[in-house]
Amino acid sequence: MVGGFLHSDGTCALCRKGMHASCLHGGGFDGCQAELIRIPNADGTLLATPELPPDDLIPSLLALSDVMCTGWHAAVCADVQPGGTVVVVGDGAVGLSGVLAAAQPGAARVIAMSRNPARQQLAREFGATEIVTERGAEGIARVLELTDGIGADSVLECVGTEEARQQAVGAVRAGGSIGLVGVPHGELAVNALFWRNVGLRGGPAPVRAYLPHLLDLVWTRQIDPGKVFDLTLPLAEVAEAYRAMDERRAIKALLIP
Ligand SMILES: [Zn+2]
Repeated sequence: MVGGFLHSDGTCALCRKGMHASCLHGGGFDGCQAELIRIPNADGTLLATPELPPDDLIPSLLALSDVMCTGWHAAVCADVQPGGTVVVVGDGAVGLSGVLAAAQPGAARVIAMSRNPARQQLAREFGATEIVTERGAEGIARVLELTDGIGADSVLECVGTEEARQQAVGAVRAGGSIGLVGVPHGELAVNALFWRNVGLRGGPAPVRAYLPHLLDLVWTRQIDPGKVFDLTLPLAEVAEAYRAMDERRAIKALLIP
């Protein structure tokens, strides 16, 4: 079974619109890093894999429960189109998943913003065509340089900090769209968007809405989002797993119960 970080009934008026993250009868879990967990609304929340998965698919299936669907949501919200130009702000597991997601509909160019060589390498494996290592005003200038001076059609903001948001607003072209999945810290000035006709959309990913399609892509080995897990630890070492991610020693840790 694969499920997301929120439970949903799959039958209410909002689930039927694909907005499972706001299910009228749904909610969050009381902790998931456990040997066993009871899933409310299990029928609506979980999706069965076609058969018992082989071991090598487990990391990618696990990625679907959160980071991959969140990166996908960023691409959906940023209206990534075939042939389009995309900038991804953030090189964590969600940002890298965003790169992978943006490449799927056939974006012509995916520009990943990252200063970390290992993450740049994975971004390229996931479909990034260019890497921008600069940040702030310099990062924006570099993106404009790469995009005929106008900015990208779509920008995926996968961090949530004020700095990342400024980066996204500076990197998007007039009439383009920003997909926001980084949990917000601080306010975003709407005026900066209004005068350039920039679209802004985002929020918690409706994981369950994306699961059937993404499970198919993983099952048929068209995408391998499990590559974001670069540290595997037993469940008992969960504290070290968080420490490694906090100190950016690991992109994402996989815990084995
Ligand atoms: Zn619902």
